[in-house]
Amino acid sequence: MGFDQVSLLAAIGFSGAALCLTLLGAWMGSRADLFLLNWSGGLAAIVVGVILFAMLDESYNEPLQWASFMAFLSGFGLIYGGSMQFRTGRANWRLVGFAVFAGVAPTTVAFLLGYSGIGTIVGNVMIGVILLLIAREYWTGRKEVPLAMTTGAMLYVATAISFFLCGFVLVAEERWVLTERPSNWAEDLNSIVAIIGLTGIGALSLGVNQSRIARYHHLQAQTDPLTGLLNRRGLAERYGAVTQNARSAVIVFDLDRFKAINDLYGHGVGDVVLSRFAGVMRANIRSTDIAARFGGEEFCVILQDADQRTAVAIAERIRHELAAQLFAAEGRSIAATVSAGVTVSSERGQPIDALIAVADDALYRAKTEGRNRVRSGPYPRAA
Ligand code: GH3
Ligand code: MG
Ligand code: MG
Repeated sequence: MGFDQVSLLAAIGFSGAALCLTLLGAWMGSRADLFLLNWSGGLAAIVVGVILFAMLDESYNEPLQWASFMAFLSGFGLIYGGSMQFRTGRANWRLVGFAVFAGVAPTTVAFLLGYSGIGTIVGNVMIGVILLLIAREYWTGRKEVPLAMTTGAMLYVATAISFFLCGFVLVAEERWVLTERPSNWAEDLNSIVAIIGLTGIGALSLGVNQSRIARYHHLQAQTDPLTGLLNRRGLAERYGAVTQNARSAVIVFDLDRFKAINDLYGHGVGDVVLSRFAGVMRANIRSTDIAARFGGEEFCVILQDADQRTAVAIAERIRHELAAQLFAAEGRSIAATVSAGVTVSSERGQPIDALIAVADDALYRAKTEGRNRVRSGPYPRAA
């Protein structure tokens, strides 16, 4: 084949260096994402390894080749650790260290004994093993972004196979001692696969990270930070504009005389009451139901399949549980109460906003009739 190996190595070196800098830049913009730093460092080591390996072209030199394999093994080790961090948030560095050592030790012994060929075989095989371990991380984490992660795993497997082949060719040729840099079809193939793998995996991983960031911000925009409940936007996006069941119940809650709690005991006590109330709501609905904080001291629950009686009973239970709680405020124990309005849809596809308006009317009645009570109204509103 007419491939010039030094040009191929130069291509790996340049694309690796570009990716290394890209990842470093990405890490500087988001320092908690240590996997970006470890991937960048791993690539830096690999680029050093490629440069050392290419230098063998001028004159073969065993220590130089040994050094290039050390750089490869530690570089792929760092990428392995980074991939664990990418998937689970933390790396098992002991396992990484063990995998790298399992490559470094036999390779070094072989080179020391003068068997540069055996050292090269073992080095290639162990690099392949580390690549398979990285592939396993992508494969295990494929649920997050299936196509991209599976493709990443495949690219790692392909690169691993190309390293294995480099070792097998030397075994087949019984090259136990080298006198020149290994140069054969497997080395060419390895370089080409490495170029494809490097650029492909780099782009995929950054893409997956980007979609992860987008998902995080989307979730943040739907969530109320104080209570962790959905906010109004989250409720609309998660549930949709119309009822999903023939009978969906809507309960709106508004804490009673909440301004007074803030004014008398401070905003901090008010915040505790709000989060505790959110907990009471959560504890009294099923996982298929939805609870949201509309803002201020106003909350809403949508029960997926409940008649008026059940919905009122749940609202009453929540009201009772809040009233039974005591809050520490300036050395005293205080209680808080809540009023609620309930309504139930009569068929699928009814607008949630209209149901909320009816529940709000009922809530208003609960307030005017003395607070700390539940009132319900029929939907659609009686003319
Ligand atoms: P009512 O029984 O009629 O509902 O009286 P209220 O005092 O509860 O109603 P009002 O609407 O006058 O007061 C609501 C108060 O909720 C005003 C505001 O200070 C307080 N509030 C809104 N958001 C927050 C919050 O995030 N934390 C705290 N601590 N208070 C909040
Ligand atoms: Mg209010
Ligand atoms: Mg209120």
